[in-house]
Amino acid sequence: MNAELAQLLDRVRGLSEDVDFACVREWKGQGSGRKAVGYMPIYVPRELIHASGMLPVGVLGAGDRLEIIRGDAYFQSYICHIPRSTIEMALTGRLDVLDGMLFPSICDVIRNLSGMWRLLFPDRYVRYVDVPQNFSPDVGGAYWRRELEQLWSDFSGLAGRPRDARALARSLEIYNENRREIRRLYEARSLEPWLYPASELYLVTRAGSVLPPEEHTTLLRRYRELVAEESERREEDLSRIVLVGTFCEQPPLGLLLTLERAGCSIVDDDLLLGLRWLTEDVPEEGDPLDRLAAAYLECSCQTASVYQPEGRRGGWLVESVKRNQAEGVIFCAPSFCDPALLEQPMLVEALAAEGIPHTQFKYSENTGQFAVIREQAGTFSDSIRLWSEA
Ligand code: SF4
Repeated sequence: MNAELAQLLDRVRGLSEDVDFACVREWKGQGSGRKAVGYMPIYVPRELIHASGMLPVGVLGAGDRLEIIRGDAYFQSYICHIPRSTIEMALTGRLDVLDGMLFPSICDVIRNLSGMWRLLFPDRYVRYVDVPQNFSPDVGGAYWRRELEQLWSDFSGLAGRPRDARALARSLEIYNENRREIRRLYEARSLEPWLYPASELYLVTRAGSVLPPEEHTTLLRRYRELVAEESERREEDLSRIVLVGTFCEQPPLGLLLTLERAGCSIVDDDLLLGLRWLTEDVPEEGDPLDRLAAAYLECSCQTASVYQPEGRRGGWLVESVKRNQAEGVIFCAPSFCDPALLEQPMLVEALAAEGIPHTQFKYSENTGQFAVIREQAGTFSDSIRLWSEA
C-alpha cells in the first residue's frame, strides 16, 4: 500500500480509538477562548456550532477501549451500551474538554442521558435537541426554525460572539462541501467496492466527528486521490450487501472487517448517519437559518428516528438495494436498540415483497468475539452467490 495512504489510515484509526479526544484538546489549545460542543448520534445542526466559532464533536461511544466501572450503575442491564460508555467517559473526565453537550431526540435512552447530564454537570451547557416529526413547513418547519434560532442564540452566548448571518452562510457552504465529498466517496464505493472497503471508508468518514469540517473535507479528498493511485486493489467476487441498523451505537471495527472477510462487500450502510444526514446541499440563496430549517424537512435521510407515514417504511431500503445493485441486506443492530429493532419487521416485510434476501444479528460496541457473526455472514454470502447462479 502507498505509504501516504497507510499513514492517512493510521491517523484516522487513531482518531477513532482516542477516547481522550486529544485532537479536540489540541484544536482548543491553538487559540485562546476556543470552545467545543459535543453531540450524541444522530443529527444535530453542526453548522450553528461552527458558525459560532466552536468545534462540533461527535461523542460516539468508547467502543471496547474503556472498562465500564461506574457507567453500569446508571443504567438497567437491558439497554444498549453507548450510554454506559458515554457516562464512563464523562465521569472519568474525558469529556471535560467539551464546553457543552447536545442530545438529539432518537430514543428514550438518549433523552434520559440528557437528564443525567444536567444533574451531573449543572455548570455545563446541555440541550436536548427535539427534532420535528411533522414535516409540514407550517407546523414542523416553523417549530424547527424556532429551535434553531434558540440553539444559535445559545451557541453565540457560549462562544461569546454575536450571531453572524454571514458566518452561518459560510458554515452552510463548508458543510455542504463536506457532505458532498462523503457522498462522492459513497458513490465511488458503490461502483467499485473493492477500492473502498467499508472498514476504511468508515474510519475516514468517522474522522469528521472530531476534525474541523474544512480539514475533514481535505482528508476525504486526499483519501480518494490516494485510492485512485493505488494499484494493488483488485476486483473481488463478493456479495454486494446493504448494512442497516448501525446509525447510533457504532459497531466495532472488527465487525466490519469480519463481514468483509466473510465475503460481504458493503455497498451502502447507515453508519455515522449524522455526518451525512442531509442528502442534498442546503440551498445557497436566502436567509441561512430558513435554509437550514427547510433542509431538515426536505432532504433528511430515512432512518428509524424519522417519522414516515404508514406503508412507506421500507421504501428507502428497497431503493438503496436497487440503486446500489445489492444482492442482500444485513440487519446489524446494537442489542436492545429500540429504534433499530422495532422497525426491522417493517423493513423485512418490504424486502420480502421484493424477494430481497436478508439476515440479521446484533452487536454491542464492545463486542470482541466475531466467530459466530463470521459464520452467519459467510453462510449468507455463500447462499446469495448460489441463488444468483441458480
Ligand atoms: S443505540 Fe439505539 S437505543 Fe441505544 S441510544 Fe442509540 S438509538 Fe437509542
